[in-house]
Amino acid sequence: MHHLERDVVIVGAGATGLTAAAALQRARLSVIVLEARDRVGGRLWTNHIDGQLYEIGGQWVSPDQTALLETLDELGLDTYERYRAGDSVYVGPDGVAKRFTGDIFPAGPETEAEIARLIDLLDELVAQTDPAAPWQHPRAAEFDRVPFDAWLAEQSDDAEARDNVALFIAGAMLTKPPHAFSLLQALLMAASAGSFSNLVDADFILDRRVVGGLQQVPLRLAEQLGDDDLRLGHPVTALHWADDRVVAETADVTVSARRAIVAVPPNLYSRIRYDPPLPLFRHQLQQHQSLGLVIKVHATYRTPFWRDHGLSATAFSPYQLVHEAYDNSNHGESRGTLVGFVSDEKADALLTLPADERKRRILDSLATYYGPEALDPEVYYESDWAAEEWTQGAYAASFDLGGLTRYGALQLQPVGALRFGSSDLAAEGYQHVDGAIRVGRRLAAEVVESLAAAPTAPAASTPPGGTA
Ligand SMILES: Cc1cc2nc3c(=O)[nH]c(=O)nc-3n(C[C@H](O)[C@H](O)[C@H](O)COP(=O)(O)OP(=O)(O)OC[C@H]3O[C@@H](n4cnc5c(N)ncnc54)[C@H](O)[C@@H]3O)c2cc1C
Repeated sequence: MHHLERDVVIVGAGATGLTAAAALQRARLSVIVLEARDRVGGRLWTNHIDGQLYEIGGQWVSPDQTALLETLDELGLDTYERYRAGDSVYVGPDGVAKRFTGDIFPAGPETEAEIARLIDLLDELVAQTDPAAPWQHPRAAEFDRVPFDAWLAEQSDDAEARDNVALFIAGAMLTKPPHAFSLLQALLMAASAGSFSNLVDADFILDRRVVGGLQQVPLRLAEQLGDDDLRLGHPVTALHWADDRVVAETADVTVSARRAIVAVPPNLYSRIRYDPPLPLFRHQLQQHQSLGLVIKVHATYRTPFWRDHGLSATAFSPYQLVHEAYDNSNHGESRGTLVGFVSDEKADALLTLPADERKRRILDSLATYYGPEALDPEVYYESDWAAEEWTQGAYAASFDLGGLTRYGALQLQPVGALRFGSSDLAAEGYQHVDGAIRVGRRLAAEVVESLAAAPTAPAASTPPGGTA
């Protein structure tokens, strides 16, 4: 067993962990990042499938994501706008594709007015919600016990309006059915993006992409670490901790440090053994956060044929298997790529089917939006993050009913020398790369501050747990 010493050990080489590592190095602290996978980036993964470059995980950047935009600038990465010229498509409960422009779906004047009214109502509640502390909303306890679909049912008896408004948060963001999370959780999601209207506005929330792929953020951050400061294929199995010291264990190395940042999604905290065990309320907290489920579907065609038909490829329907889809053609390519999403209960059902049947159903759904040309892609791929041992779902974690008010504040608190964080715990940029960067910066600042206040002790002196 190889033994190392650092000021700070970081578990996880996603955007959070690597942002924290870069900030700590700037503060002249020694770090090591221990990563379970054989690559950096976690939920960011730009990869070639049958010769075609795909963003298997996160990809879009929106104008409010200023921490991410700053990072892209610092790393010298260029962005480009998502293709959006032309009409969008909506499929209502009748299964008929209708073209439209703007944000409100062509569901008939009464339903359209009802959708606009519900969005206004949600915007008002979101404006009262602090994404850094949604549990402080004056009606937090009440809002956290009502499922989002039940709250919508109290507000409107127009089912199509409700289905559409639910889609923006449920299928499209938390990737859980709208009965599985609270109104307060929905308000946090929208508040983290500035407003509910921002979530509805695809041109805002899915504005730009990074030339060459968003995984370049973690890849370039990782390049700034010394060869000995990043270990891939090193799942951390145990953390022996006290107030001022910690020892991280993997199969091959132990690291003694003064602080640890556990930069993994909350559903994976319990893959690590803690010695001594974590405080009891943290054991509870960890059982109230879970990742959603979404399949990201990529289909590449010889040309972006939809553009010839005056379509932007932006498509929505709460009634379709693929509930939203977009033009996802890469910068400078002549081929055309569509990306679509199959979420929560629809993904459950789809994932029980053989691969060829899944593909047939997904392409049928795309053909409902774009016509029969969608049935015959040259390259086809489904990103399945639920199958990834070191993620186990997508896009990110949210609380169950009532969990946010019971445990939301606790998730931000350190435990002795340990600090926990990922995009799943962010305020602004919650569930997004922007949030991961903000959390990485915050955790690094907290560590620097706590070490400045602590008496200087060599990292390796009498490590807790006695494993060194
Ligand atoms: C399909 C998909 C689409 C998305 N689309 C977008 C988008 O368009 N825009 C956007 O901003 N965001 C998007 N996101 C979300 C975004 O990718 C994530 O919020 C962000 O990348 C999370 O970064 P993180 O560092 O907090 O966590 P992660 O990326 O999950 O990093 C955690 C790391 O910890 C490692 N790890 C876990 N356990 C251990 C252990 N015991 N020991 C060592 N290492 C461990 C993991 O392997 C991983 O590398 C998307 C996500 C998915 C999955």
